[in-house]
Amino acid sequence: MAITYGLTCTAMNKVHLKRKITNRVASGHPWIFANEVEKVEGEPAAGSIVQVYFFDGKFAGQGYFNAQSQIIVRLLTQNKNVEVNDTFFLDKINECWNYRQRLGYTENCRLVFGEADSLPQLIIDKFNDYFVIQTLALGIDVWKPAIVKALQTVFKPKGIFERNDVPVRELEGLPSVKGYLSDPFNTKIQINENGLKFNVDVENVQKTGYFLDQQDNRKAIQNIVKGADVIGAFTYTGTFEIHAGFYGAKSVLGLDISESAVTQANENAVLNGLQDKVKFQVANAFDVLKQWGKEDKRYDVVMLDPPAFTKSRATIEKAITGYKEINLRGMKLIKKGGFLVTSSCTNLVKPELFLQIIEMAARDAKRKIRQVVFQTQSADHPIIWNMENTQYLKFLIVQVL
Ligand code: SAH
Repeated sequence: MAITYGLTCTAMNKVHLKRKITNRVASGHPWIFANEVEKVEGEPAAGSIVQVYFFDGKFAGQGYFNAQSQIIVRLLTQNKNVEVNDTFFLDKINECWNYRQRLGYTENCRLVFGEADSLPQLIIDKFNDYFVIQTLALGIDVWKPAIVKALQTVFKPKGIFERNDVPVRELEGLPSVKGYLSDPFNTKIQINENGLKFNVDVENVQKTGYFLDQQDNRKAIQNIVKGADVIGAFTYTGTFEIHAGFYGAKSVLGLDISESAVTQANENAVLNGLQDKVKFQVANAFDVLKQWGKEDKRYDVVMLDPPAFTKSRATIEKAITGYKEINLRGMKLIKKGGFLVTSSCTNLVKPELFLQIIEMAARDAKRKIRQVVFQTQSADHPIIWNMENTQYLKFLIVQVL
């Protein structure tokens, strides 16, 4: 007998949609809000699979149900004939891995990027032989054993860890948990990126342990940092700064407010034999950059990768002010002809708005700028155009004149 861990659709509970949501769902958007549902047929259990129909009775897809969530259904497939079971997840994981390999990823990548891979609320990061999972909604959480089994089948991993210690799970009535989903292993692992080594502690650090989304962008600084005096702020474990040292910077100083991030960043510098050139200090970047501006300190390259500043649309002004302020302070420190490398990781600030913020900062700093590169997150975090949450990272290099 095939074991199914999730709750399957044998009872064939049905959800009928209101007319107004037709276009969005038909164009592939997987979210259905409670107020977009006309009628629920049967009594679907929280986390179970339901069949979804458009207002006119046409089949819309199959997805997972949770009446406790504002998003009452998240669609997993538009195919009526496929059964959501262990094989479904095995096929999906294979599909995701084939796609990443096609794009050139071999060791580390975001293997599954939720909605953008038609696996809503599932995140899987691959760090060589180790995997870190987040299941952020009940309907995907119930399939965790099937997902783990699929990873074991495809990769024979050395370890799988769950980082479900995130507040968003509360919206789904899920507890905050972290721990092994495989035999225990040493969670301090080492990865290679662009020829450099980085320690990643998948148990104790932010997100799933490492910002894979900037891995393509870290390569983009290669030419501008040669022979340069560089400062980086919001460095976390120092990935951009260590790349700068490796790519031939004269000196690199990284700043982060978190002591443990700075300790790890300094360890990463040592790991790559770059400790004489690349150093990290604990500091509030806002204060220090302002101070150095007053002291007329100047650098060839300033790199900024601040946190989101806001998580809600209501306080978007706060984020705009934060981004403008830090970029203004950074720009003032750049020698004529030097470069600003700057990022924003919230999807609430759209690319056009981000460029406007940088333009405002340049105006206030009385500097002219010209764009060198403007790109987004790494390609292993696919973007689906009608799902705004899938595009979130902005990465910009400008020359500052
Ligand atoms: N560039 C990093 C990711 C940065 S995450 C990478 O690619 O890996 C944002 C970092 O900003 C966090 O490490 C956080 O500790 C730090 N941070 C937040 N507020 C800060 C502040 N006011 N001054 C300095 N660092 C800050």
